[in-house]
Parts: sequence; structure tokens; C-alpha cells
Amino acid sequence: MAFEQPLPKSLSPSRLADFQACPRRYQHASVERIPQPASYASAKGRFVHYIFEQLMKLDGPARTIDAARNFVEPALASVITPDVRQEIGLDEAGEARLLAETAVILERYFTMEDPRNVTSEGIELRVGVTVGETPLFGILDRLDRDDDGNLVIVDYKTGSLPNRNFDSQTFANAELYAVLCEEKLGERPTKIRLLYVSQGETLERPVSEVVIKARAGAATNAWEKINRYYDDGNFPATPSKSACRFCSFRDLCRSQGVPVPPR
Ligand code: SF4
Repeated sequence: MAFEQPLPKSLSPSRLADFQACPRRYQHASVERIPQPASYASAKGRFVHYIFEQLMKLDGPARTIDAARNFVEPALASVITPDVRQEIGLDEAGEARLLAETAVILERYFTMEDPRNVTSEGIELRVGVTVGETPLFGILDRLDRDDDGNLVIVDYKTGSLPNRNFDSQTFANAELYAVLCEEKLGERPTKIRLLYVSQGETLERPVSEVVIKARAGAATNAWEKINRYYDDGNFPATPSKSACRFCSFRDLCRSQGVPVPPR
């Protein structure tokens, strides 16, 4: 079967993760572009990211917790639109929960770093490069310059803290951002900081040449397969408990005879 839709023009870290988890998921999400239902968690993530983005766009001395709180109302208007409210079924109680959780996040964030002292080279930085023949694209929450003059990739996380036994997966997306930065700027970020703002905890990892090569190699390998599967008209399903657990396409796969494991 040939696809009616064109192949996406580039590969982003999150789409690469989709493909690596299950090529069929990539087919449904990125090639066929089947809409995936919004969730409270994803809406909350966008809501909190909006507040941090606005905060970091202020001049350094103005980045106070009161300034951050002042962006809550604009975030409601910009992110939690009537359509989003309807999609995730956000009623009054749901909005109260969102505001209460955001208040805790802001309190905790200001114990993690003082944004007045942060020097950022880019906020919501859009970076597109071609590595070999693989077009990559990503949007970085922040690209900071630390006190030693080194570039640091900073990513806000609104979910729960990951299992440290799976650090390689936890840092995978940000490490691909490092590939993008090195290719685009000719300078390799030296560190990744993941800010788990709901818990007030920071996970850090240095970026090495070995990691950069491995992530670039994995992306190239995936892009070659994506092109091959696209030409074949079929991306194989690789069901597993971890991949299928939160996948939006479970019913579709089941209807096509894919043995999707129970949640
Ligand atoms: S339900 Fe499982 S097999 Fe189907 S697309 Fe999602 S991850 Fe793949």
C-alpha cells in the first residue's frame, strides 16, 4: 500500500523516540497524521512551558516568582483554550487542580535555580540541520551559557521523575538536541540539565563525543529505515507492554490484528 501523505520533512527527537518504540506508531502519528487525543498531562506541560518561556523572555532582574505568577492568567488564555478544555474535559475542579499544581511547580522551580542569574543563548530555540543525509529538527526549551562559558541544554519536565536505571532513555531526546546544536553552531554543549519542576529535582549529564556520535548514528539509521518502510508502504508493528501501554493507537492496532498486550 502506498501512502497518500508525504513523508515528514525531518525527524525530531520525540518522533525518533516514537519510531524506536514502535515503527507502526510513527506511521500512524507522523505519516498518516492520525490525531491523538489531548490529555490533561500534555495540556499541563504546554501550560507550564508557556509560563517559563514568558518568564525567561524578561530581562534577568525581572525574572521573579511574582512575575512568573503573573503569566498564569495569560497561559490560561493562550494554552487552555475552549477547544482544549473540551478535549480534555477540564471542568472547574480540573482548572483548580491545574492552578494548584502550577503554584507548587513555581514554588519548587525557584528553589532549583535563580532565573535572574541565567544567561540563555536561546529560548524555545528552533534548530534544523542535516546530519549526513538525515534532516533533523528540534525545539529546545533553553540553551544556556554557564559561568564557565559552556553551552548547556536545559529541558523542563512536568512529569514524574524517571527510574535512574534508564538514564540512557531519559537523556536520549536532549542528547539529540546536543547533536543539533553542535551541527548548527559548531560548538558542542557540555552538559544537559533536565529540570523536573513538579518535584523540584534536577538531573544532569555531561555530553561526550561518544554520545554525540551514537545519537547521530541512531538517528541516521532510523531515517534510513523510515524511508525504506515508507517506500514499502508499511511500518512494522513491534508491540510490547512498555510501547503499547500509553499508545493512542491500541484500538486501531487491535482491529488490524496486532497482538497488543493488555495495560
Ligand atoms: S499499540 Fe503498540 S503495536 Fe500498536 S502502534 Fe502503538 S505501540 Fe505500536
